[in-house]
Amino acid sequence: MDFKQLISHCKEYGFIFQSSEVYDGLAAVYDYGPYGVELKNNIKNYWWKSMVQMHQNIVGIDAAIFMHPKTWKASGHVDAFNDPLVDNKDSKKRYRADQLIEGYCDKIEAKIKKDVEKARKKFGDAFDEAQFRSTNGRIVDRQKKIDDVMTQLGNLMRDEDMAGLKQLIIDLEIACPESGSRDWTDVRQFNLMFSTQLGNIAGEEGKLYLRPETAQGIFVNFLNVQKTTRQKIPFGIAQIGKAFRNEIVARQFIFRMKEFEQMEMQFFVPPGEEMKWYQYWKETRMKWHLSLGTPQSKLRFHDHDNLAHYANAALDIEYEFPFGFKELEGIHSRTDFDLSSHQELSGKKLQYFDPERNENYVPYVVETSIGCDRMFLTQITQALQEEKVPDADGKESTRTVMKLHPVLAPVKCAVLPLLKNKEELTKAAKDVYDKLKISLNCQYDEKDAIGRRYRRQDAIGTPYCVTIDFDTLEDNTVTLRDRDSLQQERVKIEDIAAVVNGKVDMAKLLGTL
Ligand code: ATP
Repeated sequence: MDFKQLISHCKEYGFIFQSSEVYDGLAAVYDYGPYGVELKNNIKNYWWKSMVQMHQNIVGIDAAIFMHPKTWKASGHVDAFNDPLVDNKDSKKRYRADQLIEGYCDKIEAKIKKDVEKARKKFGDAFDEAQFRSTNGRIVDRQKKIDDVMTQLGNLMRDEDMAGLKQLIIDLEIACPESGSRDWTDVRQFNLMFSTQLGNIAGEEGKLYLRPETAQGIFVNFLNVQKTTRQKIPFGIAQIGKAFRNEIVARQFIFRMKEFEQMEMQFFVPPGEEMKWYQYWKETRMKWHLSLGTPQSKLRFHDHDNLAHYANAALDIEYEFPFGFKELEGIHSRTDFDLSSHQELSGKKLQYFDPERNENYVPYVVETSIGCDRMFLTQITQALQEEKVPDADGKESTRTVMKLHPVLAPVKCAVLPLLKNKEELTKAAKDVYDKLKISLNCQYDEKDAIGRRYRRQDAIGTPYCVTIDFDTLEDNTVTLRDRDSLQQERVKIEDIAAVVNGKVDMAKLLGTL
């Protein structure tokens, strides 16, 4: 299914709506609908449990979105949280210079992929992709071009060379996707933080920022949390919350939003031990993604070539989104940069006394930071499929199905009386629903033919459907239908809650970590 179809499916089935749609929408801001909010909550719940409940030495907090303005001075965001922007003079459209250049490389990458797929078809089972990529002349040249451009881009970004970025756009003959013109303004830095004003203080002093990352709420609370929970280093603090960035975006749906949600964990370690923990969290987080059934081939590590000012090691876990491999999660070794900066600017000590080393120090930090919305996008991207299935009358038909992991599925079980106008059936079905709803997010549906009701549940990813038919009235059993295998089995009414709960139980998944 292509990206456009995925976006319209999300709208049609109540997962995601454009914000303020009645006013023609607000770009890069989205609302989660009834099924979207359930899926998102399940993702957050799985992340939270795997971090906080599964690690004795990780605790959670929920810090405010607003923080003292000095926070963002100390963190470096006031001075350095910028994107390089460029305007096309003809279309008046604004772009991120680095994204225009990356887009140029994505196009070459797409050509390489096309050639690889062609060759795969031609050579069949004997096809060796790695060998083909390293020996096919055209592909080697194209890959070299990508590598050259990406190296240049990395250097220019590191040196904050705005004139160089503009020159690269001109040299690569990049045109505006809207107007096709190559008439660009100069590239200039643009701070990504949204600001607002306190009511009681005028001017710069009263300027407040909407947090661009949740991490700083954890850093400034480091000692509060450590002292109140008596944690010993190494320990971590986890948080899920909104973050805001004034992103300049083009058609990337919930991949890049102005208001989004982060799931972050800062892990405090003794200086010198950060690389050990960096490795640990790199592996642990990859395992978490794989546990949900995300194929290994869709995930990869990408080491940062140019490190941010606060990091001594950093990598992204990238996912193959419909528009290519892009960052899903960041793992960063942030040194003692943040705690030391807050200590300096606030004049308050943010140190830990290590009883084993018998010394005071500012801990080092390894963080894992994942966007909840990007995680959501990975799950629906790989889940949503069209497939051919046998009809009731033995023919083939096409169904749209969201094969979400049952633990993440918004609705776990639908309860369906075979017929709407037979009161014995609807009454028995409502009884089953009332029993199930206590422990599971269920839906009762009696409208339309049973086949259409199954399709509706398939489209929102409901893993199980329970059908109440005339046999139910005789022997107190129901039909349990499995979304993926389409297998049906008879289950006793008294067992149905335990059977379905057993299949969608998050505890089992946590046990695999
Ligand atoms: P990118 O390079 O894609 O802009 P980033 O490196 O700025 O991302 P981080 O600052 O490392 O991102 O933020 C941590 C995580 O937060 C990212 O891995 C991503 O999942 C998520 N995230 C960042 N910006 C956005 C956004 N605008 N919309 C949705 N999620 C985001």
